[in-house]
Amino acid sequence: MSSDSKNCYLTTHADHNEDCAYSSGLKLSKDVFDATMVQGTEFSYECLNVVKGYRNFYSVDCESSQDIYFSKNLVGCNDCIGCVNLRHKSYYIFNEPYSKEEYTKKFTEYHFGSRKNVEVFRKKAEDFWSHYPSKYYHGSHNVNVSGDYIYESKNALYSYEMLGVEDCKYCQFLSTKPSRDCYDYTEWGQGAELIYEAVVVGDSVNNVRFAYTVYSSHNIEYSAHSHGSHDLFGCIGFKQGEYCILNKQYSKEEYRSLHDKIIKQMSALPYTDKNGRVYEYGEFFPLDLIPFGYNETAEEFFPMGKEKALLQGYHWKEKDQQEYRQSSYKVPDDINDVQDDILEALLACEKCGRNYRLIQMELNFYRKAGIPIPSKCYDCRHYERVRYRSPLFASGKLCSKCGKNIMSNIPEHITTILYCEECYQKEII
Ligand SMILES: [Zn+2]
Ligand SMILES: [Zn+2]
Repeated sequence: MSSDSKNCYLTTHADHNEDCAYSSGLKLSKDVFDATMVQGTEFSYECLNVVKGYRNFYSVDCESSQDIYFSKNLVGCNDCIGCVNLRHKSYYIFNEPYSKEEYTKKFTEYHFGSRKNVEVFRKKAEDFWSHYPSKYYHGSHNVNVSGDYIYESKNALYSYEMLGVEDCKYCQFLSTKPSRDCYDYTEWGQGAELIYEAVVVGDSVNNVRFAYTVYSSHNIEYSAHSHGSHDLFGCIGFKQGEYCILNKQYSKEEYRSLHDKIIKQMSALPYTDKNGRVYEYGEFFPLDLIPFGYNETAEEFFPMGKEKALLQGYHWKEKDQQEYRQSSYKVPDDINDVQDDILEALLACEKCGRNYRLIQMELNFYRKAGIPIPSKCYDCRHYERVRYRSPLFASGKLCSKCGKNIMSNIPEHITTILYCEECYQKEII
């Protein structure tokens, strides 16, 4: 889902953006490419979990910083390369201070217009970051929360990527505030209340259950692709509908009576799928109705592989050989060597072989930013970026400083040095 945006290309779970591409979880941003979980940011590339950034490149977990490269967990910094855990610093390289003149000289020497140089710095920076502690979860301004990437929330438990949420559990991607009193709900928010078992529901929604892509509506059950409606049951594609069942209009009284009758029947005669799963009233739609392959959606967060997914009744999208044609075009290492004819070329990902193309807006951006053209396809770039994103689930760990028990989603490949809130506040802030 993507809404209220202008001139954006291949952006998902993204709203209120302009001139952005190849991103997910992107909000209120402009001129941002290859980003995941980024808010209020401009002119940035290859960022993960960045807020209010300007000219942030190849960086993660940064806030209110500008002109930063290969950096992690910076707040209020500018002109930093390869830094980690800094606050309000300028002209730092690998956490060491430089004069403005020295910094500028070094920056020119490093020449980040070359893909080889970028790859060398990326590896060097990731190794450098791994020697510094991380807080046990990403988030701030919270009371009683568990999960990861949680901000300005209260009583948000076992949840992930939350902003301005209250009294919610088992929710993900509610990154447009506010949301309250929700369970088992994935994506959106923006004035969501009493939502249960729903996907992509938001913008003034109340009492929505077992539904997807519903907005500005209330009292909705088992419905999809509807807005500006209330009291719908089993409906699809409605604008300003009321008291409808299976897209048929009833009087308020008829609706109530039929609604109660159907609910009773759904429990008395439930649908059973070919794997023997029973769907009574109270369950989300059956798996048979999923229009996407498991590997196009859930595999990213709940990996199980093709064999298991098929056994469990999910679809699996096979490779389309048309998307893997040979390419003779060699993407130049240096942005300065790239000619306009690249826009006509069919490129092949150096990792998986899948074809991709460049669009004009993207080429203009790389040239203006002085960064290299990617040699990998959108998907490979995405998966490389999200290596630095926590998975959905937490496990029990110990604070590396005081030994206190903590629950953390952050995996060991990101860092083995995790601090509890108190130790982190003492040492980092
Ligand atoms: Zn690829
Ligand atoms: Zn501690």
